[in-house]
Amino acid sequence: MNQPEDSAAARLRQLNQYFLQHPVTGPTEGRTPTRTPGAPLSLATLDHVQASVAEVVEHARATNPDAGPAPSRADAIYDWARQHTEHADEAAQQRAAVIEYRQYLEHAIRAGDWRKAIRPQRCPECRCFGLMWQAGMQQALCTNTECVDRDGTSTTVTLARLAHEHIAGRKKLRQVRTT
Ligand SMILES: [Zn+2]
Repeated sequence: MNQPEDSAAARLRQLNQYFLQHPVTGPTEGRTPTRTPGAPLSLATLDHVQASVAEVVEHARATNPDAGPAPSRADAIYDWARQHTEHADEAAQQRAAVIEYRQYLEHAIRAGDWRKAIRPQRCPECRCFGLMWQAGMQQALCTNTECVDRDGTSTTVTLARLAHEHIAGRKKLRQVRTT
């Protein structure tokens, strides 16, 4: 299957490469390896890659217990998961698509590329473009000054919600095209 240039798989491959190019030196027994300059970032990236892979594998296995062993190449898991859940019900496939898209957003943000990932998304509340990533909150903030709740607090959106909206919107588009 052809992967579009900017996908969860391509992003995960980049992060994995980043980790390989900035390896953690010193013993890595358990979870407290020797700290070296640059290591915390690499370790966090490694943790991120492993957690992402684990989440996709877990969902695929929960959907299809016969999925078998996951591929050893991290960025191959999305194709693997799709192959092994293609006969699952629509809800399970939709959940898988939301996980993959959310991970695409997470990978892009981890690579410092939130603009490319977040800017094309509409705010789910006001449908405006103008979301900005807030690293401290780990949420996107709507910059529309009228998009506030009753207390005047700006709308914030989790990546999970953005991913859900994106996949639901894509599904609606498909239905429009086929009817
Ligand atoms: Zn908004």
